[in-house]
Amino acid sequence: MADFFDKLKDTINKGVATASALTQELIDTTKLKSDICALEAQKKKLLTDLGELAHEMIQNGAIDEGKLQVKSSEIQELTVQIRSLEDSIVQHQNKSNESSDAGKSSVKCSCGADLAAGVKFCGSCGAKT
Ligand SMILES: [Zn+2]
Repeated sequence: MADFFDKLKDTINKGVATASALTQELIDTTKLKSDICALEAQKKKLLTDLGELAHEMIQNGAIDEGKLQVKSSEIQELTVQIRSLEDSIVQHQNKSNESSDAGKSSVKCSCGADLAAGVKFCGSCGAKT
């Protein structure tokens, strides 16, 4: 009986491994996007904090620029992190575009123009394909 369950577990694990390989790309981007969401929420909170802090200082007539700068640089750090995550999403998408392009057979006309699959005439020079 234990054998049966071991085998079953094995089969399930293999299935999961295959599925995760196929969706890995999707998960990567989804994960990046959720990371960005989390960072943006954090940034929003810091901006609110900064606003409250500044408001309080103005009301009290004593602006502590150092304190404001610390908050501001925390926000800046998050902005940079968000930007780099956004960059990696773009890179990721470019990479998957490239790999899907590589799958297509690229056809070129003798004039050098790219020909879409199935066209009868070159859109550039009008030559029959
Ligand atoms: Zn042509």
